[in-house]
Amino acid sequence: MASNRVKITLACTECGDRNYFLTKNKKLHPERMEVKKYCPRLQKYTLHREVK
Ligand SMILES: [Zn+2]
Repeated sequence: MASNRVKITLACTECGDRNYFLTKNKKLHPERMEVKKYCPRLQKYTLHREVK
């Protein structure tokens, strides 16, 4: 059960900053996550993408 949860990092696609650290359920989201998140550096919402 717990092994389905993996730690991921979300990086801003515009400036490259790694702004969010979270876990996801790999079974529910096997694909690379892309979500709109607030970027403190750019002070706006940008697309954040899962990185290793
Ligand atoms: Zn950014």
